Amino acid sequence: MRMCLTSDIGGYYSGAIPEGRDQFGLKGDFVTSPEISQVFGELIGIWFVTEWIAQGRPSRGVELIEVGPGRGTLMNDILRTIQSFPAMADSIDAIYMVEASRELRATQKNLLCGDDAPMTESKVGYHSICRNTSLPIVWTETIKSIPIVPEKMPFIVAHEFFDALPIHAFECIEVPPNQDAARSDADKSSPSTRTTKPTLQWREMLVSPTPPGSTHDSLRTPPSQSRETPPPDFQLTLAQAATRHSMYLPESSPRYRAIKSRTGVGALLEVCPDAALYASDFAARIGGSAQHPKAKPSGVALILDYGPGDGTVPTNTLRGIRRHRRVSPFAEPGLTDLSADVDFAAIAEASMRASEGIEVHGPVDQAAFLEAMGIRERAEILIKSLAGAGGNSPDSPTDDATAVADDAREQRESAPADIERAWKRLIDRGPGGMGKVYKALAILPENDGRRRPVGFGGAVAA
Ligand code: SAH
Repeated sequence: MRMCLTSDIGGYYSGAIPEGRDQFGLKGDFVTSPEISQVFGELIGIWFVTEWIAQGRPSRGVELIEVGPGRGTLMNDILRTIQSFPAMADSIDAIYMVEASRELRATQKNLLCGDDAPMTESKVGYHSICRNTSLPIVWTETIKSIPIVPEKMPFIVAHEFFDALPIHAFECIEVPPNQDAARSDADKSSPSTRTTKPTLQWREMLVSPTPPGSTHDSLRTPPSQSRETPPPDFQLTLAQAATRHSMYLPESSPRYRAIKSRTGVGALLEVCPDAALYASDFAARIGGSAQHPKAKPSGVALILDYGPGDGTVPTNTLRGIRRHRRVSPFAEPGLTDLSADVDFAAIAEASMRASEGIEVHGPVDQAAFLEAMGIRERAEILIKSLAGAGGNSPDSPTDDATAVADDAREQRESAPADIERAWKRLIDRGPGGMGKVYKALAILPENDGRRRPVGFGGAVAA
């Protein structure tokens, strides 16, 4: 999954798709919320403002951090919105963008800084200056490259980032007695673990080549997947013996152990170690950790993605997306987008384990979050101002750069009817609707649960 998405040679995000083709948008493979409506990013900007108010309106030290910024649209909308709150805008020291793809870093730089703006390289990453705010923007390939400074107040957003992080999948099997238990053939040095009773063990699902001459029929491509791509080059097979990952990942949480004892043989599990790493990093930045003590927790992280909201562990959710259709995740690696459901409960667990200075709210449905943030009211104002200004309002992004970007984003709204359709799509609670499938989760400074963030049951602080 990692190689297919972000490898230097032929990763889906890092340049495998032919030049001139785009991952995003109607002509690409998928459409994301910030690309559907400017209102989405505006409300996230407002959410950051409500947190900045609730956390004492600091006059400096705020860092905006986005992981997986795609075309840069969300950050652009967030920045435009925060500009309307000059005291908060003045409190921002720097903007960080965590982006693995060189091509997308360039797209983001062109949108936020201008085509002609230079991008310089340093030990930390790549630097340019935001044209509308004059703030420094720093691009890094991983969040680890962004210095952790306890005095800073990080405002972190991750939209459709966690679903792109690689997962490991496991199945629970019964191992008969007197067989070597948790040992692979390669590992003859460890003491024998012969069992006298059948035991339950996790086995990892591994990616292996399909037999030569395979067809969609011989591989039984499920009806949920389009057959427009060639028969898959790879398939998932169950490992014959324990693997490094099967020995520790499924043992890393009481949630997984409970599934093993409750369901037993046939139980399935998906675990995303990178998601836990990112969540732990966010938590340490906000709440401090043993390695990075922080006198006063501050800042916030907002994670928006799809996955179960009821604490169940995702199973069988690896999917391939090509031109808005579900395809086999194993066909034409590098040309197909891959993703898996996000385990929000695992993110919450990892954050709380990483820092005592944070608490987690949600996940809540995207529809509930956006409605509480005022999506209806904001859309109504936008529609009214568009109608009043003959389709061109001070509220709509009219500066040249954004107008050009909007041309490229053919699906972004421009007429009142489009705005109406777009915001309703974001909160659609019907089967498969974005309002229900997508969830929001917030990590904030620990406060004994006394203050709930806006959108998660709380109100704007006085
Ligand atoms: N947030 C954007 C884009 C989502 S697509 C939107 O909603 O439109 C996922 C983004 O994460 C892309 O920008 C991709 O290049 C980036 N990405 C995926 N895996 C990554 C990784 N391991 N490290 C850094 N960036 C990654």
